[in-house]
Amino acid sequence: MTASTSPHSDSPEYTPKEACEQFAAELLSRRSEKLKSDAARRPQHVPRASGVDKCARAMYYQITAWGEAEAFTEHSIARMQRGTELEERIIAPEMAMLGFRWMEAQRYLELRDDNGRLIMTGHIDGLVLWKGVKLVADIKTMNPNLWGTIDSVHDLLRNEWFYRYPLQLLAYMMAYGLESGLLIIDDCLGHWKTIPVHLADHRELADEVKQRCTVVVDACEREEAPDFIDDASVCARCWWKKCGTCQPPMDYANDVRTLPNQDLEQDLRTIEAYEEQGKQRDAAKRRFSKVTSELEDGQYLCGPFLIELTRKPRKGYVVQDGTTVNRTTTRIAEDKPDALAEQLRASKGGAA
Ligand code: SF4
Repeated sequence: MTASTSPHSDSPEYTPKEACEQFAAELLSRRSEKLKSDAARRPQHVPRASGVDKCARAMYYQITAWGEAEAFTEHSIARMQRGTELEERIIAPEMAMLGFRWMEAQRYLELRDDNGRLIMTGHIDGLVLWKGVKLVADIKTMNPNLWGTIDSVHDLLRNEWFYRYPLQLLAYMMAYGLESGLLIIDDCLGHWKTIPVHLADHRELADEVKQRCTVVVDACEREEAPDFIDDASVCARCWWKKCGTCQPPMDYANDVRTLPNQDLEQDLRTIEAYEEQGKQRDAAKRRFSKVTSELEDGQYLCGPFLIELTRKPRKGYVVQDGTTVNRTTTRIAEDKPDALAEQLRASKGGAA
């Protein structure tokens, strides 16, 4: 290694190239660690406006099984943080700069049932006073490609993720006793869309939200989960099903057959047990390929390993038509048996 003699280098131990490469890696590594530490879930005790779901049972698990909730990935945390920064530091101040009266930013609010019992909490982005009328405003950010597909409340309600936005705004309106509100949606590139939402146009939906929160709070008090939602398509995408916490009686129970093959069962357990190691091995192999693809042919010693690199021409070929078998394996948690699991385990028939 040739030590740097540059007057701009703080560390003579490294050449500028080495220092730069090390810094590039360290920057990403520290950010990744920080994002991971921000990814922790926090307990909740009543439904949250931002967590309104189509299924009351899913909302119940958000409270009673919050520790099992789907972990945020580094990528999703980074995206959420960027969205929050845009909302709080750029869009809201810009509204004020444009001369709109922006009030009660990040104000905590509560929704109560007819008996005064707390059934939902939330934080509004802000209220706007316009022509003497108070409007609740919620700022959202969206991937630019998706932003282009959304123009109305109905577009949002049709979307499997964004349907929550108008429901959240309706909950805020009910909590505040306001009749209208506005979604301000930024595409992360600085373009905005405004979508007005009126309680009178969505009264039924607003009542459903309130009713669902009441069902969840009742269920928490009884310590008994609400009924399964009667929509297999919602369950098919649901985290609580994926992680085994909820096991709805899915349609597949009608024609599912038992496969009493102990070797196969053992293989499935082995695949499950080594899944994480498999991911780590694949990532290591990718890194190995990347590094070695930049080396010339020859022999290299790396610790106790001898690496031999030789390149050969590869012939291109055309893939023939054929059949692909898609295999999906879902874990049925043994510590949470349900009727289907019992039925499967007890069954004697089926294919071998
Ligand atoms: S799996 Fe279905 S019933 Fe269970 S929580 Fe999810 S959506 Fe609701």
